[in-house]
Order: sequence, then C-alpha cells, then structure tokens
Amino acid sequence: MSNSYSLMVHGGAGALQHIKHEGNEAKFERSICGILEQGRNILEQGGAALDAVEYCASLLEDDPLYNAGRGSVLNEYGEVEMDAAIMRGLDLSAGAVASIKGIKNPISLARQVLEHSEHVMLAGHGAMKFAEFQHIKVWPDHYFITEARVKQLEEAREAGQMILDHEDSEEPQEKFGTIGVVARDLHGNLAAGTSTGGIVNKRWGRVGDTPVIGAGVFADNTTCAVSATGYGEQFLRTVLAKTIADLIDFQGLNAQEAAAAGIKYLVAKVNGLGGVIVIDRQGQCAAQHSTSGMIYGWIEQSGVAHHQLASPV
Ligand code: ASP
Repeated sequence: MSNSYSLMVHGGAGALQHIKHEGNEAKFERSICGILEQGRNILEQGGAALDAVEYCASLLEDDPLYNAGRGSVLNEYGEVEMDAAIMRGLDLSAGAVASIKGIKNPISLARQVLEHSEHVMLAGHGAMKFAEFQHIKVWPDHYFITEARVKQLEEAREAGQMILDHEDSEEPQEKFGTIGVVARDLHGNLAAGTSTGGIVNKRWGRVGDTPVIGAGVFADNTTCAVSATGYGEQFLRTVLAKTIADLIDFQGLNAQEAAAAGIKYLVAKVNGLGGVIVIDRQGQCAAQHSTSGMIYGWIEQSGVAHHQLASPV
C-alpha cells in the first residue's frame, strides 16, 4: 500500500513477568499506546519517517520506565553511559553516538550527527564536544539516575554479573528496556532508531549493538527498517539488523518471514537473546524475539494501534 503509513515502537525484550507486579503492565500499555498515537499525528499529516522515529524515540527516552535516556541502566561505576543511532532509508544516511553522558535525548544527538557532521558515529569525549558545538545542554546525573537502577546495579554487583535489563531473576523486580522505533511514511520512506543505556554493570567503555549501523539499527527504502534489543554482543556478531534486510533483499521475504528467519539465525549461530521490530517497504509490521517476552506496539498501514507485552514463549 503506497499511500499508508506504519509505525512500530519497542521498549526492550526479556523476561517480563516482573512488569505484571505493582500495576506496571498498565503503565507500559499507556506509555506505548500514547507514544504510537503521537507518532501517528506526524505520519498522517505527511511528516517524514525520520521525524516520527526521532520524536517517538525521544518520548521513550524521557520516560523512566525504559532503559534509555532518563532511567538508563548504570555501568560498573554507577554512571549512565548511553548509545543511540538513527538511519534514513532513502539514502542510507545515518548518525550514531556511543558512550555519551548527560544528554537528555541521545537519539536527537544522533540525528545531529546525521544532519550536521560528515561522520556516522561519534563516541565519548568527541561526541560530547560535538554536542557542545551544537549547543546541546548537558543535564545533571540526578536527572538520569533512578532508585530502581541503583538497586539493580547493587544486585548485579553482588551477583558479579553484567545483566540485560529485562533478564530473569529469582525475585521479581523492576527492570525496564532499551527502546527502538521504526516507521514508514506516506511517501514510502523508511527510518529506524534505537537508544539505550546498555547492559547493567557494563565495563571498560563497553559499546553494544545499538549505535552500530547494521547490528542494532538499519533502514533501507528498498527492503525494511529494523530496530533490535537484546545482548548487544550477539547482535554485533551476527550483524542482525542488516541480516534481516538482506533476507528481504536476496530471498524476497516479507517483514514477518524475515524477522522470524533473523531471530532463528541469531539463536542458531550464537544462541542469542533478544528481539527485533521490522517494517518492510510495503508497510508490513513484524516483531520476533528469542526471549520470553518483548514490549512493543504497532500501527500497520494506517490502521488501529496494537500493543503486546510479555508474550508467552
Ligand atoms: N542491546 C542493548 C545493548 O546491548 C541492550 C538492550 O537491548 O537492552 O547495549
């Protein structure tokens, strides 16, 4: 359908039993559905897929329910260090930032890299210099760090582990996920964006798949837009987002088939844990995950908004 728009958002993949506790399920539902409707406003008025992706991703970053922007997980030093990337399917232009601190909306800094630098990815100190150059404000630590994240880091330290935000544990507890958005606009343009605080207790400047084009994010108008969530190292090694686009390109699969084949490949090759959202060039929406659950929502071909939380294995 050429004159329809599609939009998908995700809030991370993992064992989500904990969100059923303390009324969190309703909070996620409200958040996902509200953000989809705000994205719809942009797309139904003929707005660009890239704008819808940036806007919806920034709303997800602002919501401390998720592991991105405010509410990001903490690294081994108890700090928030974030990664994000955004890609335009029309011309494969892309912008990414890695290991940044104090930036309220990493997805918007990634967009600035796309628009105003001759590079694709800026990391650490250099990315922060670029932000300063673009007059982007640095926010204090207390804006980002939530009580739940401090507790989560303490648990990870006690267990001597690095953990995925939604990973299962014996005690149900508050754990929230990385975010991503994919969109197709009325003009048939695709875009994708992903943003994260990474994994809990991460070390030594670790950067995952999220800001790496082709691993945690990819968009090409001739195939699809993809955003991933899960153990970044596994998505990096399988170049998963681009693998899904290649499945569409070379095998003629649709979004659903390619998402399923991509996750099958992730599991077969590296026993990978995570999920993806995909919109293909026809505007078909698909989600697939190897974890027991994933938080996501979608509007397919200008239709009604749907959401899915904690789906059974
Ligand atoms: N993929 C992210 C990372 O490895 C984590 C996540 O999706 O929750 O940094």
